[in-house]
Parts: sequence; structure tokens; C-alpha cells
Amino acid sequence: MSVEVRLIPCLSDNYAALLHHAESKTTALIDAPDAAPILRALDKEGWNLTHILITHHHPDHVQGIAEIRKKFPVPVYGPRAEADKIPGISVKLGHHDVAEVGPLRANVIDTPGHTAGHIVYHFPKQALLFSGDTLFALGCGRPFERPAEVLWQSLLTLRELPPETQIYCGHEYTLANAKFSVSVDPKNGQLRERLKQIETKRAKGEPTVPSLMEEELATNPFLRADNPAVQAAIGMKDGDPAAVFTKLRELKNTFKG
Ligand SMILES: [Zn+2]
Repeated sequence: MSVEVRLIPCLSDNYAALLHHAESKTTALIDAPDAAPILRALDKEGWNLTHILITHHHPDHVQGIAEIRKKFPVPVYGPRAEADKIPGISVKLGHHDVAEVGPLRANVIDTPGHTAGHIVYHFPKQALLFSGDTLFALGCGRPFERPAEVLWQSLLTLRELPPETQIYCGHEYTLANAKFSVSVDPKNGQLRERLKQIETKRAKGEPTVPSLMEEELATNPFLRADNPAVQAAIGMKDGDPAAVFTKLRELKNTFKG
């Protein structure tokens, strides 16, 4: 069952995504930062929206829902634990639920940390992950509503997904993330090479999303808190991975590229 994905830049650095399955005329929107660019993208493709999938309650992921639903009064899927903060939600989802999106199937994974009820959508047959603000290219979300060690556990769950999984995240933060990543994993040749590619893409105004799980596993320090080289680079040799992750998060918050 082949699908197409369109990435839609919104606001200053958000991404929404459209997932389209032509045969069934299914078109799902993942997150709704801003109605106008999303409606323009649908119009340009000639696609009729059929579903809205929301990862978490932050305004820059839900504030376009109402306006979009004026034109496309479609069901809104989202995290059960944050349902009261998501306008128009009709299908409430949690861990191990299967989201039915036309003939497509997404496994719902709870990833608390950035928000307490954050969920991500994994389409195993299409090898696609819509990771919201949990996992970014070379980064991860800030743990606002749960402690960093809870977010680490969420990332450990995502690390189990197949390496060929394409990851669509909620923001274009990759260049800043890459500079930080090199600072805590300086001997990682694949990471340094990736930084160069990201600099080239951003200089041309191109998106760095999606990324592949395989390259995140090899280069994203927030998936590598149990890696000896990362631990040594931040002075926590043989450290507890959750504590190392917490330290990485703190270092990132104060990093000046
Ligand atoms: Zn957020």
C-alpha cells in the first residue's frame, strides 16, 4: 500500500505533514500548526482531507484544527491523556491502540516527556514514524511535563523501531541540534559528515526532515546516552544512561552554538 508524504513548513520552524493514499482517497494531516499553509497544500495537490492526527496539545500543533475543520469537518485523532486540551478531538488514543486511517494502520506509542500525554504514530507497513516533539533529527523535545528520565524511556521505545523507518518530526531544529551533537560526540565521523550535509541543505533552504532511524541511531546523542564515546565526552564514563541523558538535555538547554 504505497503512500505519499508532503511536508508543510508552518509558522517559524514547525512542520505539518500530509499522508496520502491515492487508491482509497485517504489524506491524513499530522499536526495542525497553522491552517493557511495546510489548506494551500491540499488545494495544490487536489487532495481532500479525511483525517487529522495530533501528537500533543501544544498550541503550535493544534491551533489550526478549528479553521481546517471549517472546510474539512473530519475526525481528529489525538492522545487520550490530553484530550481536554485538543479542540475537536473525536478519537482518543493511547499506547498499543491502532489508529485506523482509511485502509492504513498506525500503531500508537505513548512517549511521555515533552508533554505528559504525547503520542507518536508508527505506520509499520509504510516504515513511517510521525514523532511530533518527542524525537527530532539529531535531537529530542524538551521534557516540560515529565522528568528527563521519563523521556529517555520513551526514546528507548522508539529506538526499537526498524532502522529503515523514516522519521517525520515537528520542527526544523536540525542544524542547531547537529552543532550540539558534534560538541558531545566529537569523534563520530558519521555525525560530522551529517553536519556538513545539513549545512548544505539549510544553506539552500531545503528541509532536513525526514531522517532515517538508522542514521539517528548512529548520530543522535539523545539516542546514545548509553554509548561509551558520548559518556566519555561529557565526563560520565560508565554512567547510568538515564543520568547521562539528563545531563545531555541540560547541556543542550545552555548550549551556545
Ligand atoms: Zn511541543
